[in-house]
Amino acid sequence: MADTAGGTARSERDDAHVFYSWSAQELVRPVTVAGGEGAWFWDTDGRRYLDFASQLINLNLGHQHPALVGAVQAQAGRLATIAPSFANPVRSELARLIVERAPGGADGGLNRVFFTNGGADAVENAVRLARRHTGRQKVLAAYRSYHGNTGTAVSATGDPRRWPNEVDPGVRHFFGPFTYRSSFGATTDAQECAAALRHLREVVELEGPATIAAILLETVVGTNGVLVPPDGYLAGVRELCDEHGILFVADEVMVGFGRVGEWFAVDHWGVVPDLVVFAKGVNSGYVPLGGVLIAERVAASFDHAAFPGGLTYSGHPLACAPGVASIHVFEEQGILDRVRSLGERVLGARLRDMASRHPSVGEVRGLGFLWAIELVRDPATRERLVPFQGTAEQNAPMVEVTRAVTAGGVWPFPQVNRLHLAPPLITSVEDLEHGLDVVDAALDVADRYV
Ligand code: PMP
Repeated sequence: MADTAGGTARSERDDAHVFYSWSAQELVRPVTVAGGEGAWFWDTDGRRYLDFASQLINLNLGHQHPALVGAVQAQAGRLATIAPSFANPVRSELARLIVERAPGGADGGLNRVFFTNGGADAVENAVRLARRHTGRQKVLAAYRSYHGNTGTAVSATGDPRRWPNEVDPGVRHFFGPFTYRSSFGATTDAQECAAALRHLREVVELEGPATIAAILLETVVGTNGVLVPPDGYLAGVRELCDEHGILFVADEVMVGFGRVGEWFAVDHWGVVPDLVVFAKGVNSGYVPLGGVLIAERVAASFDHAAFPGGLTYSGHPLACAPGVASIHVFEEQGILDRVRSLGERVLGARLRDMASRHPSVGEVRGLGFLWAIELVRDPATRERLVPFQGTAEQNAPMVEVTRAVTAGGVWPFPQVNRLHLAPPLITSVEDLEHGLDVVDAALDVADRYV
């Protein structure tokens, strides 16, 4: 077999029989991970990495947290599995704990949880709930978004790199706010907010409000750029939905459960959606789990007419147990306060300082423990360091920058021309500073292309 990327041929590797996600199978050269602890993991040669990607921005409480591992072990000893049609104490307890922390509190009305196995199937079921509840078919979703890799979720994903499997004809896309690369010619957040809301209102009018079941959006766009919405945007979407009986579905798979310093990211803006999709941080991904928080009035429409959705592993006890443990750890250790304060004081402050010194940094943006460094060749024109869908040759500078970070023992989350940084929420200040030193030094590589 041809060896196209150096090292051992695919067929001779230890992982020869694994088919990898998001990868050209012949080119993928994964690090073989032997173990991890806290913010660190290490490979089979003992090389250690500081996990600035939290395993796809998932591992909020870090590797091998004793409370989470213990919760899985204890539950396995008690009852390893039970079908979703039975009640089970650990599932009921997790639902109660989530509802108690739901956006809007007790007045918000988000008081029911439908559990799934992960993010994509939570999106599928949120859309299905919205369509059944409203009797409408269309779903508006944003360009520059990621909602998962199954039917409707991948159709809703506003990223053409994911689209060959597009299957849901009810999805329509719109532009969300992104001041740095405004689709509307705006130069301030206030202008961008107003323009994006005007645009969305026009899309709703031209699609026909009475045909639209839901507006689905990531509260803070994750994979497609770490785009924090300007103040007023989410409130404007809420208002538009209310005018037309459209359900507001917030996808908080990446940003829920403390990633940006609140239980749910919408809490930053005091907005209460009708459905909130979550996964990842709910239990740090120790066992796959996702779900949909459902407004009472939506849930009530299925009181007498069955909801047709269901999953064998919905609310799996082994997944709910670390979910319960995780919420207790968050509270005992003040994780939300920690993320709010260190996210700004350490991550935000240091990254802004890097932006002021490195000409290749077009913009840094983020919230809490989720940040992106947008790399450019020309700060004036904002030309990206590598094109949106570049060839391997065109993407080489980004590979070089990423390698400089990993060679320094830090694992980032690179996307197109951006380095996303999202350490576990328990990462020590010393480790945060160390990781940022490594990133800072690696940006010299990007500066050479300016
Ligand atoms: N929505 C968002 C915002 C996500 O970031 C992701 C995963 N990165 C998903 C949905 C899909 O989640 P999963 O991979 O668990 O299906």
